[in-house]
Amino acid sequence: MLYTFNKRELADLDIEEYRRTTRKLTEYLRQEIAAYCKTSCSMCGNEEAQAKYFLWIKTLEYENSERSLSNGFCC
Ligand SMILES: [Zn+2]
Repeated sequence: MLYTFNKRELADLDIEEYRRTTRKLTEYLRQEIAAYCKTSCSMCGNEEAQAKYFLWIKTLEYENSERSLSNGFCC
């Protein structure tokens, strides 16, 4: 039944319009959140490294600032 429902829902899908819309959405999201995915690489010193993922381990307060115990790297 689920297969039949999905098949009917997708039968009239305009695949080109779907692709245009997903490209626009992807670009919009890239502009909105890409800045939050930048990090500095502890291996090569690249200050504009693109984070592959973030792993929240633990933080500690150190001289009035919050500092992550984990290191990021891009290479
Ligand atoms: Zn690197």
